[in-house]
Amino acid sequence: MKIVIAGGGTAGWLSALFLAKQNLHRDEPAYDITLIESDDIPIIGAGEGSTGVLQKVLLSTLTELDGFGEKEFFENCNATFKLGIDCIDWNGVGDKFFESLSGTHTSLWPLDKDFTICSKYGNAPDSTPNKYLWENNLSPFVGNPNTKTNYDTGYAYHFDAHKVGEWFKKIALENGIKLQKGTKTDTNINSKNGVLDKVILKDGTEIESDFWIDCTGFNRVLSKAVGAEWVSYSEYLPINSALVYTHQYEEGEEIPNVTTAWAMPNGWMWQIPTQERLGCGYCYSDKFVSEEQALKELQKVTGRKIEPLRNIKFDSGRLKEVWKKNVLSIGLSSSFLEPLEATSIHSSIIQLVQLTQHHLSPYKEDMIRESNIKANNEHFNMMLDEYRALIQMHYITKRNDTPSWKNTQTELKREPWVESILEVCKWRVPNANDFPHYNGSAGWGVFNWILAGNDLIGKEVLDKSLHTHNFEKSSEQHYKHMVKEYEFDKRLFAPHTEFINWVIDSKEKNQKDLDKSK
Ligand SMILES: Cc1cc2nc3c(=O)[nH]c(=O)nc-3n(C[C@H](O)[C@H](O)[C@H](O)COP(=O)(O)OP(=O)(O)OC[C@H]3O[C@@H](n4cnc5c(N)ncnc54)[C@H](O)[C@@H]3O)c2cc1C
Repeated sequence: MKIVIAGGGTAGWLSALFLAKQNLHRDEPAYDITLIESDDIPIIGAGEGSTGVLQKVLLSTLTELDGFGEKEFFENCNATFKLGIDCIDWNGVGDKFFESLSGTHTSLWPLDKDFTICSKYGNAPDSTPNKYLWENNLSPFVGNPNTKTNYDTGYAYHFDAHKVGEWFKKIALENGIKLQKGTKTDTNINSKNGVLDKVILKDGTEIESDFWIDCTGFNRVLSKAVGAEWVSYSEYLPINSALVYTHQYEEGEEIPNVTTAWAMPNGWMWQIPTQERLGCGYCYSDKFVSEEQALKELQKVTGRKIEPLRNIKFDSGRLKEVWKKNVLSIGLSSSFLEPLEATSIHSSIIQLVQLTQHHLSPYKEDMIRESNIKANNEHFNMMLDEYRALIQMHYITKRNDTPSWKNTQTELKREPWVESILEVCKWRVPNANDFPHYNGSAGWGVFNWILAGNDLIGKEVLDKSLHTHNFEKSSEQHYKHMVKEYEFDKRLFAPHTEFINWVIDSKEKNQKDLDKSK
C-alpha cells in the first residue's frame, strides 16, 4: 500500500519513523512510504518540551530503527532532562508549585496515600523523587551518558525543535522513507467516493497515494481538501497568541532540569532549557493585551531586554474528524492547545501508536473502513477533550488581579467533568478512577499536582480522607520516613549541568573522530 506524508516538520518525520518500523523484518515492504517536504514553507520551530511518552519511544518503541536511541537523541537534538514543570504565580503572585513527571508509589490506590500525607504535612510533590532532583538541579542518571545507569523515575526531555526534526529526518531516510521535495498547490478528489486521489505540486509533479497523512501544520492542506471541519476550543481556552524568543545562557549559568510555566498578567510564559539556550515565549489572549504590551510585560517580569523572534497566532481546538476518508491528520494539522502541558508532540506520538498498533493495514479497503476510522476518531476526540480540561484546571485559581484573570474565573465555559472533579474535591481526595483511562490519558497522575498546587483540595478534606482510609495513625511518621529516604537517595545523582556537559564533550569527541577518519 502506498502512503504519502505531506509536511516535513516534527510530526511528519515522526510519522515517517513509526511507519518505517512497520516494514522491518518483512521479506517485502508492506508499505511504500514517501514524505513531501517543502522548501518554501518553514516549520513552526516552537515545540521543545515533551512528556514521558517520548522516553518510551526513545527507549523501546523505535529502537529497532538503525541509529535511533536516547543517547543519540541527547547528542543530536541539544536535549536536556525534563523532570517536571515549575509553576510560578498561578495561584497568586508569589505562589509556586511543582508538577512532577514521576508519580507517587500509591497513585493507583483508592486513596493516594503518599500524595495525601505529603499534602497534609508538607507539599504534595514531597511524595515523588523528582521534587528532590528538581530542587537540587540533578539529572535522573546515577552514572554518565556512557554507563547509562538510570534510576526508576519518570522523566521527559527538552530539545531544539529544529534539530529534532533534522535528526528524525536523517533516521527516516536511512530506514527506507522516500523524500519528495515540493509544495502542494492542488488536489484531486475522487468524485465517486470523496477520497483524495492525487496531490499536485508547484512544479507540476503529480503524486498519487492510497492513504495520506496530513502533517502540514496550521495550513492543514489535505484535511481541508477532504472537508474536515475545525472544532474551536476558544470558549474554554482563550489564549490565541505566542510571542516567541530565546535567551542565551550567561557564563556559568546552570541548565535547569524542568520547564518553567510562569503565570503573567495576561496569560503565562514558558522557559524551556536546551543545551545552548532557553527557548521562551509568552502565551496571551489578544483580547486583553496587544503584542507591544505583552512584550513590555515580559521585559518587566524577566528584567531582560527581549527581541522576539515571532508572534504566532492560533485557535485552540481540534478537527471534528481527525481521520476523514483516506486522510489522517497528525501534529498541528490535527489539533493545538496552548503548550502548557506539552500535549502536542505527546498526542502525535499517541496517535501514531494507535495507528500502527490498531488501525493500520496494508489492505487499502481497511484504511477507508468506517468502523476503523470511527474507532480512531473517538479515541482522539476523548484525548483532546481531556487535555482541554487539563489545561483549564491550571486557570482555576485564586487569581483575579487583571481583567484577563477575572474573565478566566467567571466567563469561560467549563468542561462538565472539571466541575465534577471540583465537586469531589469538596469532600474527598480524588483517585485514579475519577479520571478517564485510555492510551495517552493524563489522569490523576497529572491532574493531582495541579489540584494540590492551586489549593483545590482543602486541609479538612485531606484529614477526612486519611480518617476514612484509616491512615491517620501513622501518617506523620510515614511522611518523615518518605522525605528522609528521598533526601538520602538524591546524593546518588549526577548534577544536571554536569550530565549535559558530558553529553556535549562526547558529541565534540565523536565529531573530532569523524573528522579524523575522513
Ligand atoms: C508557540 C508554540 C509552542 C509550542 N510548544 C510545544 C511544546 O512545548 N511541546 C509540544 O509538544 N509541542 C509544542 N508545540 C507544538 C509543536 O510545535 C508541534 O507539535 C510540532 O512542532 C509539530 O509541528 P508540525 O510538524 O505539525 O507542524 P510544522 O512544524 O508547522 O510543520 C509543517 C510542515 O508542513 C509543511 N507544509 C505546509 N504547507 C505545505 C504545503 N502546501 N505543501 C507542502 N508542505 C507544506 C511545512 O513546510 C512544514 O514542513 C508548540 C507550538 C507552538 C505554536
